This record gives sequence, structure tokens and C-alpha cells, in this order.
Amino acid sequence: MFAHNLLIVQIPIPTEIPPAITAWLRNDRRLGMAHYACPAPELSADKPSPREPIARAEAPSRRADDRSAGRPAPAWHEPRPAPASRPAPETMFGEADAAPPRSAPRPLPIADRADLAPLNDRDLSVEEAAAALAELDRAAVKNCTTCRLHEKRTQTVFGVGHPRAELMFVGEGPGADEDAQGEPFVGKAGQLLTRMIAAMTLTREQVYIANTVKCRPPGNRTPVEDEMAACWPYLARQIAIIRPKLIVALGRPATQTLLATTEAISKIRGREFPFPPPSLATAGLPHCTLIPTFHPAYLLRSPDEKAKAWADLQIAMRFLGLKLPGK
Ligand code: SF4
Repeated sequence: MFAHNLLIVQIPIPTEIPPAITAWLRNDRRLGMAHYACPAPELSADKPSPREPIARAEAPSRRADDRSAGRPAPAWHEPRPAPASRPAPETMFGEADAAPPRSAPRPLPIADRADLAPLNDRDLSVEEAAAALAELDRAAVKNCTTCRLHEKRTQTVFGVGHPRAELMFVGEGPGADEDAQGEPFVGKAGQLLTRMIAAMTLTREQVYIANTVKCRPPGNRTPVEDEMAACWPYLARQIAIIRPKLIVALGRPATQTLLATTEAISKIRGREFPFPPPSLATAGLPHCTLIPTFHPAYLLRSPDEKAKAWADLQIAMRFLGLKLPGK
């Protein structure tokens, strides 16, 4: 019995097939198996694989280490007693960050929507950008029923902040407070994010805050792949209008969507990635830098991780030319 009905063997052509392989092929044919020749994928040093930028960026960042060393922790990073060893509940914000996805890794199938206006391709004035964001929300997002998340929402949660912010935070999805108020990051995690922004010497009004999905997943569960893919065209348009210099992706779902990767957030947090990633290079998105870090809700449950998040934010501050505390 054979466990698989397709086996791919890559043999350089032209070449002489070794006797052992010849005997094996003959034996297969006796058993009724067929063999087909097909071209091997082009993988050479000249043509990097789509994952290359991630792999390259995984080299330890000396700058990150240097920057975080010796800096005083901000107010939101007061040491707290470690929580009991009870595992984090299976809820929506980053709790699975430490664990790799159970299914086989594959890029999220994000695609654009032909029925929406094309992505903005130029620098807009603050007024133009504000109007474009408002129109996107009014005309497309507010009444969107593209995915199942519309069924249980109170309202959509579009985004908030400066329409031409240099720094954009992208989280996962609205929670109960956000669903009730129509604004992202207004619950306990939102209050922590506000303190994190303040520690960066910024205000919520100076940055832009959005989520990967605009409707609350029922029970605060993590949005699934097809929901994030369905909502991606809206986030792509927000990014194309705002044209930030830096995106800070909060937690695993936002990071994996924006980088089209399945790498664990704990592996890639605090590193600078070029955005858009190669798989979205032709989407018409503006180019900027992306730094992943932990989601504030995860930090509320795992306060020991706040030091890492603060190190990540200092990298973001240095990138934006902001003065580091104590400097
Ligand atoms: S989550 Fe996004 S795609 Fe799904 S219904 Fe809401 S706005 Fe539409």
C-alpha cells in the first residue's frame, strides 16, 4: 500500500539517471505507477523566494539590542506580579503568539476588490486624505456584508487618528468596547495602547489606529483567514491614503496579514521589514517600513513581555527620529 499517490523527485536534466533510480522506476511501473517529467521551479541566487525578506530580517538586529539597552522603562511598563501559570484563554488578541499555527504555514490569500475605487497612488493633503478616508468608510465599510462578521456586529469600526500620520498602528479586530463605541482600541487594551503611544512622546491624534478586520468577531475570537482576506481591501486603501512612514503591527494576525507570512510574532517582533512584502509588490501599495510587536491585550495578560514591547517601540521611535527617554 502507498500512503501517497504523488511523489515528486527533482533530478537535474540532462543527466544520467543513476542505476538505483532506474531500478526503482522500473519497480514502480511493475506496480502500475506512472512517471511524468515536469520542469523544476526556478530557485536560484538571482531569483529569491518570496520568503527571502523575512529570512533576511531574522538576523539578530544589533540596532534593536543597542537601542533597548539601559533605557528607563515608561510608566506603562511598571513591573507587575506574574500572572498565575494558568494558560491564557483562547481569545482574540495575540494569546497564541507564542505558539506556531497548528496548520501548515501558507500566506494569507489576500486579494483586491474590483468594485472598490483604485488604491490612492499619490500624496494627499491632510484635508484630501480625511475626505478619502471618510468616503471609504461611508461608501464601502459601514454597510459591508462581505464576510460573516457583519452578522453579529453592532457597527463597523473603521479607524481613528491623523489622516496623514507618519505612524500607523494596525491591530487585529474590534472587541466589545470598540464594537459598542465604533472606535478602535478604547477598552483596556486600548488604554494600554494610548499609554504606549504616550511613552513614545506621541498622542492618539498624531498617529492612525486601525484594525485588520472592521467588525467584531463573535466572542472576541481570532478572525479567521477568509475574514481577514475579505477585509484586506479596506485596510489596503487606508494605508494607501495615509501613506505612513512606519506601520507598527500589533499581534500575530495583523503581522501575518500585512507581511503575508505565517512566522510567529515572537520570532519577528522588533525587526524592521519592508512593506509591502514581495507577494503584494504589485498591489499598488505605498512603500514604508513595518515593525511587528505584541498586541496590548497580550501584554495585559503577560506583563513580563512589556519590556520586549518597549524595546520594539524604541526601535520605532528611533526610526521616526523621536527622542528616546533619558537621551
Ligand atoms: S469584517 Fe470587513 S469584510 Fe467582514 S463584514 Fe466587516 S467590514 Fe466587511
